[in-house]
Amino acid sequence: MTESLPASQIREALERLRAELPSQVQLIAVSKTKAAEAIEVAYAAGQRDFGENRVQEMLEKYERLPQDIRWHMIGHLQSNKIKYMAPFVYMVHGVDKAKRLKELNKEAAKCGRQINCLLQIHIAEEESKFGFDYPEAAALLAQDLAQHYPHLRIRGLMGMATFSEDQAKVRAEFAGLKRFFDAQVASQPDYFDTLSMGMTGDYQLAVAEGSTMLRIGSAIFGSRA
Ligand SMILES: *Cc1c(COP(=O)(O)O)cnc(C)c1O
Repeated sequence: MTESLPASQIREALERLRAELPSQVQLIAVSKTKAAEAIEVAYAAGQRDFGENRVQEMLEKYERLPQDIRWHMIGHLQSNKIKYMAPFVYMVHGVDKAKRLKELNKEAAKCGRQINCLLQIHIAEEESKFGFDYPEAAALLAQDLAQHYPHLRIRGLMGMATFSEDQAKVRAEFAGLKRFFDAQVASQPDYFDTLSMGMTGDYQLAVAEGSTMLRIGSAIFGSRA
């Protein structure tokens, strides 16, 4: 665990963000590496959506924290961990292979659940970021997903921009993802409504370019070092 900001600063950060964000933008508080106590502070301030990137850590927090928290898996998925989160995870942001959809669908079926998923699109320059490229994602989205994966709801897309000071570049990456999202909406079910883009360093650009969901950690809980 890494140290969190004092409770009063966590509350203030949440208030500032809520005042700043347009009402259609959902805020996921990214609590990875932060103690359950920090999550309780945010929860008491009304926050219900939290993001984690490791299944084991998310499971431990799920077991000890209030049951109405919606847990978002924002990290890279490992096949052998899917079964541990399938019973409770609310949304999986990092689906980057068709094979993962199969695995998720299978585990969701065992739990008698439908799990919300986002397809991760590779929009950054860095090789290290995961995801589909646009043609791959378009091919996947052209399938009848509800029929192939009845236990999943493909709710939209997720992307991470290049980690860069170059605002024009980051903005262009977000704009490209938004264009692709808009082009897909017409052929998708009504629930295809989520565009998860933007974190502490770039969320203002993401909102300006049409994000509907932000994943913000450091600006709420403090840096992770
Ligand atoms: C850690 C993480 C975030 C939050 O990062 P901050 O810069 O602390 O806001 C957002 N998205 C993903 C995928 C992450 O892994």
